[in-house]
Amino acid sequence: MVSRIIPVERFDLIIFGGTGDLARRKILPGLFKRFADGQVPDGSRIIGAARSEMDRGEFRQFAKDAVISAQGDAVEPTVLESFLEALDYVTIDALGEIGWSELSEKLQGDSVRAFYFSVGPSLFDDLAVRLQKHKLVEPDTRIVVEKPFGHDLETAKALNKVLSAYFDESQIYRIDHYLGKETVQNLMAVRFGNMLFEPLWNSQYIDHVQITVAEEVGVGGRGGYYDKSGAMRDMVQNHLMQLLCLTAMEPPAKFDPDAVRDEKLKVIRALDPVEPHHVVRGQYSETDDEKGFRDDVENAKSWTESFVALRCQVGNWRWSGTPFYLRTGKRLQARDSEIVVVFKDTPHSIFGAEAGGARNELRIQLQPDEGITLKVTIKEPGPGGMRLMDVPLDMSFAETLGDHADTPDAYERLIMDVIRGNQTLFMRDDEVEAAWAWTDPIIQGWEAVHDVPKPYDSYSQGPTDAMLLMQRDGREWREIGA
Ligand code: NAD
Repeated sequence: MVSRIIPVERFDLIIFGGTGDLARRKILPGLFKRFADGQVPDGSRIIGAARSEMDRGEFRQFAKDAVISAQGDAVEPTVLESFLEALDYVTIDALGEIGWSELSEKLQGDSVRAFYFSVGPSLFDDLAVRLQKHKLVEPDTRIVVEKPFGHDLETAKALNKVLSAYFDESQIYRIDHYLGKETVQNLMAVRFGNMLFEPLWNSQYIDHVQITVAEEVGVGGRGGYYDKSGAMRDMVQNHLMQLLCLTAMEPPAKFDPDAVRDEKLKVIRALDPVEPHHVVRGQYSETDDEKGFRDDVENAKSWTESFVALRCQVGNWRWSGTPFYLRTGKRLQARDSEIVVVFKDTPHSIFGAEAGGARNELRIQLQPDEGITLKVTIKEPGPGGMRLMDVPLDMSFAETLGDHADTPDAYERLIMDVIRGNQTLFMRDDEVEAAWAWTDPIIQGWEAVHDVPKPYDSYSQGPTDAMLLMQRDGREWREIGA
């Protein structure tokens, strides 16, 4: 079989915030998996750089624990030991001079160089200044930045301005890990690699699109951050917006960074303003066993939303008359993320209404399992006349693809894209700003009228009003967790 591993050049990846939660849960385990697959070239180095006082041995132990906790028994001890050999650590202060000369000495001149800013955005400016001051940035150096990318349009612009003062846009990789998910890329493969769907991919044949990102967990230990953010800023402005863009965009001429991002940007710019009565916000209530949202964020008067559902319209020829419904929330019935494209009824039923049958649906599932299902209508087997039933044409990756189904975590894919220098799956400055420009008026509208989020039962489908949002249009949400 032909190897699926695409080689990358030798690299030095410096993780600012290398001892943080994201490094522990995602970045280090992701890098280990790429290493175990043979994709990390000999001589590459992964350098943790954080304020925590640690030596190389302690950082290796931290990484070892992180990999074992993420991958459990599947880890081959000798492979893990070789991986750890590639790890190094520098105690560094983004706000001072500690550690910078030491970091400079560790970097190799002939390797791809990438700095991962896995720290709060308030440190980006200081990191950028010190990277430049210590002459650690070369024309080909890349930086990776994490969400949140701004709190609103103004702060996003300020952040872009800071970064653009020190780096060229071609060096900046803004991560939205949803774009690294295998199924999300498969959405593009399904749309643009087949003849089947694209001719139908418009308002003539598609009734509506539903995009859901439902989480079962509450805000957990992130209450302080979340109370200042909310579902609209934390999820809709970035993740759901990206899913909407990939579903609605025109075919790019090429699968290359600017061609894809240009098309996504056109979608965001084509979005109509959202009518206030087309948005529902909610907050989860307590259960006998667990705290409600206001207890979780320790703010009895919080009016931040843990749920939002909205109806939006891409105002262009392709989508005129086909609404997109977006919904996301915490403490819902199940962890369940999907894009559902609901086709229109056949123009005329030759079998009569009593024969049954429903609309075709293309369902792209992102979580908990990744897969694509097309719901089609067939004849119900057996005697008894022509009765119709719906069956799924299933492409569950695990079943269909066998060994190939070991889908990499989004971070694995995205970090390797950084090393390859491929920005296709990263957000560009103008995209981020356009998304905020669309989101801000919705949030300002709530603030202006002191909109209070609707309570909803924990582990439910969300507030009743979210159901009504669809029902008023004669439609229904797919059941979360069904
Ligand atoms: P964290 O608080 O767990 O870790 C912060 C890291 O930054 C630590 O390694 C700390 O030592 C380092 N640090 C703090 N101040 C420093 C300084 N002055 N100089 C040098 N290092 C310093 O944070 P996290 O959860 O790992 O998040 C990192 C970034 O990633 C944040 O921007 C966060 O919003 C984003 N993010 C995190 C997650 C997640 O699941 N944790 C998900 C998406 C985005």
